[in-house]
Amino acid sequence: MTNARTKASLFNAMGLGPVWELKANETPQVQVPAIPAQGVHQELPSLKSLQNTVANCKKCSLCETRKQTVFADGIAHAPLMVVGEAPGIDEDAVGLPFVGRAGQLLDRMLAAISVSRANNVYIANVLKCHPPGNRNPESAEIAECSPYLVEQIKANDPKVLLLVGRFAIQTLLNSKKPVGELRGQVHRVTLDGLDIPAVVTYHPAYLLRRPEEKSKVWDDLLLLKQQGII
Ligand code: SF4
Repeated sequence: MTNARTKASLFNAMGLGPVWELKANETPQVQVPAIPAQGVHQELPSLKSLQNTVANCKKCSLCETRKQTVFADGIAHAPLMVVGEAPGIDEDAVGLPFVGRAGQLLDRMLAAISVSRANNVYIANVLKCHPPGNRNPESAEIAECSPYLVEQIKANDPKVLLLVGRFAIQTLLNSKKPVGELRGQVHRVTLDGLDIPAVVTYHPAYLLRRPEEKSKVWDDLLLLKQQGII
């Protein structure tokens, strides 16, 4: 797929049209997979053990209001790991990250660079429990929960991280700069002995509120692809 056509595909998928249609003799090179009904495929024992620990966690008050913990989705040991913020109400109900409208947008963004939950990405959030009313995570909650994320990253050992939204960035890059200032460069996550390249972009939920920012995501995805994840 040419760069121009891939960009057209992304823009179309993200609602920036015009609609791009395949010619009769072409087959799609990118298929957006259905969201798996089950959790993480090819579960590793260490991740399974961590998932069980998280499922019983009561370290912060979010355990009192969650329906269930939301650990991860995708492929263990995938070359790409996406880190988001916290489960929303849909994720709380289903038990998987990024399953609402924002999650569907994330899937379309990733599909534009041939990445899918079924094949080559592992997806998790900073918080494993839904903050009531979709409020922002509190710093004490992040402090309690982020060690689980660090363990997930260490167990998966991804080639590159995609940090979506400011809470993932603040947690893993220890920076309070806005996303717009941090885009366009490859950062390093050096946390607890980790040293992993990281690309940042806007959270899909933010893009749903500010669709005029969607076009910038293409550059972030290209930068991500350049890290050799595919
Ligand atoms: S948000 Fe994290 S630290 Fe708080 S109860 Fe849930 S799993 Fe435990």
